[in-house]
Amino acid sequence: CGIVGYVGPRVDERAQTVVMEGLARLEYRGYDSAGIALVTGDHVSTAKKAGKLANLQAELEANPLPESSTGIGHTRWATHGGPTDANAHPHRGGADGKLALIHNGIIENFHPLRNELLADGVEFTSETDTEVVAHLLAKAYKGDLKAAMLEVVNRLEGAFTLLAVHADNADQVVAARRNSPLVIGLGEGENFLGSDVAAFIGYTKEAMEVDQDQVVVITPQNVEVVNFDGSAAQGKTFHVDWDAAS
Ligand code: GLU
Repeated sequence: CGIVGYVGPRVDERAQTVVMEGLARLEYRGYDSAGIALVTGDHVSTAKKAGKLANLQAELEANPLPESSTGIGHTRWATHGGPTDANAHPHRGGADGKLALIHNGIIENFHPLRNELLADGVEFTSETDTEVVAHLLAKAYKGDLKAAMLEVVNRLEGAFTLLAVHADNADQVVAARRNSPLVIGLGEGENFLGSDVAAFIGYTKEAMEVDQDQVVVITPQNVEVVNFDGSAAQGKTFHVDWDAAS
């Protein structure tokens, strides 16, 4: 299972290209479904398919998504809910089509969280543990995706790498990590996130480690890392050895 995130300049179809290439480079990790979310204007566009990445590629060719400079991509190894199109990530949170989330790992306490959301009238479209996080994030969102992520991760138990995009914060991807891998790729005027450096090795050799229990915000020009209590953190940068990574 793999995760890719990208923010870059507002040109062409770069987000889709970078995310799909990253997912292809992460295929070796194994997966049963794949999906992508792109910030496109005032909403988020998604495509997701059970099966091989080729199925998602065919879907994108049949129903192209608008151009975008901010995107996230996911390969899923199902733990909660079978490998179907509906259970594939990204999952949407809220009803306005502005927020999408991807997740690798397991949310151990998803059951009480789901019941709480159901009691609140939230409608679910999948059987995944992940979808509760998408809805919690949408409820917590008050204009600042990082603040919403910090609020939500402190309610979660289990293992997770989370990446989220919101159309009203169009130039950022917000991520969180606990007991599941996440690394930052540092570009020029663009930045990357991945399960491992393979996700962005085609674009940059400069990377930054993310520690346990940290939230990351990437924009085209900036990378910010904070701890789950909101305090500032300093990521450790490193140079990727191409030969070792290939
Ligand atoms: N637990 C989530 C699901 O079943 C994520 C699985 C993964 O790590 O890909 O959808």
